[in-house]
Amino acid sequence: MLDKPNFFDHFFDEKGPLASHLSNYQKRDGQVQMAQFIDESVTLKKTVVIEAGTGIGKTLGYLLPLVRQNKKIIISTATKNLQEQLLEKDFPILQKALKLNFNVSILKGRSNYLCHHRINNHSKMFFSKADASIFSDVEGLLKKTNTGDVAELKKNFSGNITHAVTSTSENCLFGDCKFSNDCFVNKARRRAHSAEVIVVNHHLFFSDFFNENDDANNLLPKSDVIVFDEAHNLIDLAMLYSSKVFSSLKLNRVLDDLINHLKNSVIGLENFSMIFNRYNFSISQLLDLVKDEPQKISLYKLSQLTTFKDHLIEIMNNLEELINAIKEPGFINKDIDASIKELNNFIELLKNIINPSEKKNALWLEKFNNSISIHITPVDVKGIFSKTTASNDSMVFTSATMTTNNNFDYFKDLTGLKDIETRVFESPFNYEKNALLHIPMGLPNPNEKDFFSSLVDYAYPAIKLNKGRTLFLTTSLNGVEQVANQFEFINNRNADTLNILRQGMLPNQLLIEEFKNSQNCVLIGSFSFWEGIDLIGDNLTLLIIDKLPFKSPDDPIVDAKINLLNEKDFFMKSQIPMTTLLMKQGMGRLIRNFSDKGVAILGDNRIQKKYYGKQILKSLPPFQLVEDYNQVLNFIEELR
Ligand code: SF4
Repeated sequence: MLDKPNFFDHFFDEKGPLASHLSNYQKRDGQVQMAQFIDESVTLKKTVVIEAGTGIGKTLGYLLPLVRQNKKIIISTATKNLQEQLLEKDFPILQKALKLNFNVSILKGRSNYLCHHRINNHSKMFFSKADASIFSDVEGLLKKTNTGDVAELKKNFSGNITHAVTSTSENCLFGDCKFSNDCFVNKARRRAHSAEVIVVNHHLFFSDFFNENDDANNLLPKSDVIVFDEAHNLIDLAMLYSSKVFSSLKLNRVLDDLINHLKNSVIGLENFSMIFNRYNFSISQLLDLVKDEPQKISLYKLSQLTTFKDHLIEIMNNLEELINAIKEPGFINKDIDASIKELNNFIELLKNIINPSEKKNALWLEKFNNSISIHITPVDVKGIFSKTTASNDSMVFTSATMTTNNNFDYFKDLTGLKDIETRVFESPFNYEKNALLHIPMGLPNPNEKDFFSSLVDYAYPAIKLNKGRTLFLTTSLNGVEQVANQFEFINNRNADTLNILRQGMLPNQLLIEEFKNSQNCVLIGSFSFWEGIDLIGDNLTLLIIDKLPFKSPDDPIVDAKINLLNEKDFFMKSQIPMTTLLMKQGMGRLIRNFSDKGVAILGDNRIQKKYYGKQILKSLPPFQLVEDYNQVLNFIEELR
């Protein structure tokens, strides 16, 4: 029997058990070291933070040591797609290579599972024609599905349908539900509780963590080890999911539910109807008041904050009157009870918005077509992570981008985690040889009017020589628009045109497929294209980034952080690290495997001219920095 270091070395060797299950396999020393490090740390019940450079093979690097320990493991990753990739690709390879069977279960949030009770309580006559047709499909699926997973429908459907056919932790009847034994949420929960490894996404993890129900009704069981994969944006997610949100759309849906339940209980509630009309009027006044405000704004920056709060008080009073109108005649059943509980939650939320007690929270408004949300977002989420560590033996936080300025201080500072071990396992890719970074010095300042057109004109010869195969990342949707317009302008003057794909033309995934399958193509995208995109080999050999991705001071969370820290501290302690992590993600799109080669052009020379820019530059993958544009063109020529 091999001792542990030799076991990992042997397992990942080019002649080892893993190699025969993967094509073009190459051993990576960083992966072996990562597995050994996690094995030792988990044995000693430590919490670790790991930066695993692109190409290390971090998933198998953490899975292998964990499945060999006889522990209950939760793996939380960024998206449902990554959950499925773990289940369908990584675990099967590991099981074959280890010749070992272990019980792995995927668990999704409640809104992914059909709810018998809610479907039973709704009738398709209350929906629009399109929704009624989907509702019929849902009823059909309910009769034959084993899992109740809404993804089996293979259709996108509206929020109204999701609300009607799935449950929330607020409206679920739990033990009082007559469908409790057949309930798909309960079945998924039971499967997860009996599994050795549970794969969830960050959304579910935090929703469950912040769920105010008792532990018995939480979806996730206790575990020995939690792994947070793609942990670089965990702090933002913790802030998001620990926010309290007043949503006028959600409130309307709760009231629709209530009316639906009342129809089942009693005919004629004149008093209720009168108050309900007053409520609708108050909501319409509120929406009207903010119609000219920006899409997202701090509440403190609203031009008519006092009137806004007056409308909130009216809504709160309307809700209290509605509850009394139902309670007085005593029309209570379990569903009505659940709706009243939800209305009381809304009233509490409104009280906290009208008279905020916690100064460290960002209080902000978000506008949609016919609704608004008001968020109370904690800017400091340190307590969350210390609570999570207390309930698990070990935690593993990992991502390709965890450090800024070559240390973990930013992550440690924001999470407040103490007694943790940190490690960087460098990417095995030869960036110095395979990738160039070029920063033009003569372009206008990024805030100047002709910046985008100048950058496109400048990069055009490289793009043409490269035959497209270019990803153009911008820091705003306005940037996408301006860049696309300039390409259109150039295309109109030339016979030999480029194929321009811009964010918004198609859903992102379809755009990426189109990019892979097209010739002479430039894909232009804003922040949703900066991470999670894997364009390997010849698909992508030129990356252009318009400017350093600073967060706007108009962002309400940024505004709250500035108020908490002061402007100078915010810039160095928060703005620069956030920008660095995002730049690392953006640059990481270019080189995705050992043989990838390419050029990155950054249109923002503040990275070389400003004191903070040099700090950001030092944290990026070590591409060869070239000043001479001809060198860029020669490099591309050699790639052809
Ligand atoms: S227990 Fe909750 S989720 Fe399950 S069927 Fe009943 S109401 Fe729906």
